[in-house]
Parts: sequence; structure tokens; C-alpha cells
Amino acid sequence: MMNSIAQMGEALADFIERHPKLWVITGAGVSTDSGIPDYRDADGQWKRPPPVQHGDFMASIAVRQRYWARALVGFKAMREAQVSGAHRALAALESMGHIELLVTQNVDRLHQRAGSRKVVDLHGRADIVACLSCGYQMMRHAMHSEMATMNPYFTTLDARHAPDGDADLETDFSTFKVLDCPRCRGILKPQVVYYGDVVPPARRLAAQAGLENANAVLAVGTSLMVYSGYRFCRDAHAMGLPVASLSLGVTRADTLLTHQWRAPITPVLEHALKVLRFSSTLVSTTG
Ligand SMILES: [Zn+2]
Repeated sequence: MMNSIAQMGEALADFIERHPKLWVITGAGVSTDSGIPDYRDADGQWKRPPPVQHGDFMASIAVRQRYWARALVGFKAMREAQVSGAHRALAALESMGHIELLVTQNVDRLHQRAGSRKVVDLHGRADIVACLSCGYQMMRHAMHSEMATMNPYFTTLDARHAPDGDADLETDFSTFKVLDCPRCRGILKPQVVYYGDVVPPARRLAAQAGLENANAVLAVGTSLMVYSGYRFCRDAHAMGLPVASLSLGVTRADTLLTHQWRAPITPVLEHALKVLRFSSTLVSTTG
């Protein structure tokens, strides 16, 4: 039975050596060490109420007031987040030539900050907002600081940080003033794919093209419960590619997996990296 971190790291290194062009998909688990909370427990169940739905956000000013008032508190977790060992290990694997493409379901941009270059942000990025009417874009922090000025009372509130820059704040949100598009007064929304939203086709196609050039899938820190990520594992399985998972908990793709390591992500990745570096030293000194 494989149970130690070292054994799992060796098995992962072996998997990476056998499949030199990996298509990697990551989820919330790679960012929890960075201080960004996640939605699901090890059984893949919701730990908290599901996030805002796209349709509700569009239809209701009350939903947007609540969303932005809570974001003024909760987005600090994302803004202050630092890259974790898992982000660094995945960036190192790319620089060693092992990664064909990294597709992330996270919107925190921490893979890019850690040095990964071949990244598709499947669900967008939380640091930019765009007008849904005219396409005007602005940085999230600029929108937040304008809304802080418009709503001084709300900047005095604090609450537990929650996923996606949300916070567990409950109060009367009806007086909160939401910033509209400075150009056309339209609705501003983070450049993030919400639940009930669709992944833009160009992004989905970029992820798919990477899969066609890869020879295995490695899912890291994701339960794959969201269909837009799960579908690629299902496609990879149909293409005959091995599908491996490194994650603390169960995944929706468990029955498709050829390899599964249920363990803390960072130490296993770091051990695998050490093994790969050692074996590349052997190749270069003997070969
Ligand atoms: Zn606009």
C-alpha cells in the first residue's frame, strides 16, 4: 500500500517521466495554502452556501449590492495571497519541460505569479472587472477603492473571508452604492465565469487544443465537481489518455482515474520534483 508522502512523490515522478507532455488542471486546493478559502470538503460537498449565480447577479440590484459589499471585505484574502509551494512546484515542472498546458479553475492568477507561462484561466480572473454592456474594463482594486469612498460605513465592517473574494458578512445591504460603468452606466462584473455562466468558447478551445498535444492528464487540488473542468477528464479518458489525480479528497472523475494520490498537494509535488531533478542529474552525468 502506498501511503507515505515520499512513496506518493516517487509514484508521481514516475508518472511524469512516463508522460512527458502533461495536461494539468488545477483547482482551489492549490490555493488554500495561499490563504484563499475553498468551497468544498474532502467529500466534494459544499462547506458553505453555493456562490452567486450569473442570472441572479444580472437580474437583481439587491444581489449586486450584497455581492460588492461583501467583496469589499473578502477580496483582501485574494489581494494579499502569496504563491504557495504547490504553485512554485508546478511552475518548476513547466520550466523543466514537463507541462504542455496548465488549465486552472482558479481566478487568483497565482500560477502566473509563481512563473507558469502556459496557463489557461478557464474561469477567468478576479482582478479585472468589465462592463457587460460596452466592454469597458478596469482593475478590480480601482473599483473597490471607488466603492470604499462611496460607502465609508461598509469599510468599517469585518467578517470571515470566503472563497472568490466573498465574506461571511450579513447586514442591511440596501444602502450600499454600487459603482456602474464610468462610460455607459452599465453593470460591472468581475471577469469571472460564475456558476450558471458559460466558459467563453475561445478559452475552451485553447484548453482542448492542449489536450490533443498531451499524453496524460494530471488533476491537482480539484474535486472536478464543476462540469467545465470535469468534461476535459472525461474527454481525455475517451481519447485513451491516463488521468491522474493528486488531491486531498474524492473527485467526480474517480471512476476514470488511472492513478490517484489522496494526500496534501505541496509535499507530494515537492518530493516528485526532487526525484525528477535527481534523475535528470543522473542522465546528464552518465549520458
Ligand atoms: Zn459600459
